[in-house]
Amino acid sequence: SRKSLKGFFRRNLFVLFTVASVALGVILGFALRPHNLSMREIKYFSFPGELLMRMLKMLVLPLIVSSLVTGISSLDRRASGKMGVRAVVYYMVTTLIAVFIGIVIVMIIRPGKGSRDSPAVKTGNIEAIQATDAFLDLIRQQLKYYILPSAIITLEETVPVSGSSAGVNALGLVVFSMCFGLVIGNMKEQGHALKEFFDCLNEAIMRLVAVIIWYAPVGIMFLIAGKIVEMKDLAEVGGQLGMYTVSVIVGLLIHGLFVLPLLYFLVTRRNPYSFIGGLLQALITALGTSSSSATLPITFRCLEENNNVDKRVTRFVLPVGATINMDGTALYEAVAAIFIAQVNDMELNFGQILTISITATAASIGAAGIPQAGLVTMVIVLTSVGLPTEDITLIIAVDWFLDRLRTTTNVLGDSLGAGIVEYLSREELQNQDADLRNSVIEE
Ligand code: ASP
Repeated sequence: SRKSLKGFFRRNLFVLFTVASVALGVILGFALRPHNLSMREIKYFSFPGELLMRMLKMLVLPLIVSSLVTGISSLDRRASGKMGVRAVVYYMVTTLIAVFIGIVIVMIIRPGKGSRDSPAVKTGNIEAIQATDAFLDLIRQQLKYYILPSAIITLEETVPVSGSSAGVNALGLVVFSMCFGLVIGNMKEQGHALKEFFDCLNEAIMRLVAVIIWYAPVGIMFLIAGKIVEMKDLAEVGGQLGMYTVSVIVGLLIHGLFVLPLLYFLVTRRNPYSFIGGLLQALITALGTSSSSATLPITFRCLEENNNVDKRVTRFVLPVGATINMDGTALYEAVAAIFIAQVNDMELNFGQILTISITATAASIGAAGIPQAGLVTMVIVLTSVGLPTEDITLIIAVDWFLDRLRTTTNVLGDSLGAGIVEYLSREELQNQDADLRNSVIEE
């Protein structure tokens, strides 16, 4: 019919625009590089990209709160409990698989073998912190800055060590909204007005997203072009650093294009690649923004509009996933730590590799969904096996690029997770639909 044809064109036009925006961004970036723009000119040039970043970030806070509150309050407690357990199991399993893949790849490629390309930039003698301390510090920091923040609306509160990374206090919002949603759900009739309010808020935010999505390709183009103009000379990224970059990319590709789709197929028996096709816009936005939090509005839209995932599932699992489930980051942390060990000629024994797996997982959970957060939480992985933290400087040059790729993997993992949890929870969802119908008939 004409209407579905129109829908088809509109959807594909979006996808076409978005894919083209990446290509145009790359071309524009490389075309401008020879002109040696000053930092100020680059800032002006990338402004349309910054605008997109701001628009998306602006929506993250109300989106997380409204979706979690309505999501949880509209599920009965048993259903939300089961769904939560399934999501957490999925997050843990896939993160551990990602770490495992990273370790295998970096052990095979051995990007850091041989002596150092260049002497490490020593930035003073940072005393090696003991593993347990680094771990406790992470938890304390999480408690203070994320889980139990002093005020709920602390948009720009950041972890002190991460200097540049001003982002949304996502985990604090997630915890608060979940509790709030549970309470409203328990209030039954009395909580009805509040539930309607958040429902409506959620719907309104999603309508804003529908507008922003038209601007997204423009923003993404300038974000990518600006970054390419700004980046250091590629010739510097030779030798060990180049092989390290290749190792991370290979690991991310294996995880994102084979392992996760296979898992999706094994559970649901559906075609994972057509599911991923519906996510293209979210994946490209992740590539452009290097922030899974900022991508969240688009991820919601792709899952609900293109892939028809039940809103009760996306509202519940997506905000949580975007905050704690980061497969790409976990993989990268493991590769980077072992790379640094190789550069330092340090043979790791089995126990140390196990320690790296555990701390890389923790570091990925601890990392916020903002640009280069993973680089900061890297410290706990390195200190856990006594590697020099100042060697993080060895990998900084390529981190902006790897950050984009791991963020894309993170968003992919969250989205496939929503699909899997929906499939596993289909019975509870149907029961609830039936309950709802019955109660309407009774009324
Ligand atoms: N930028 C990543 C994200 O937002 C986190 C990281 O630095 O690994 O998902």
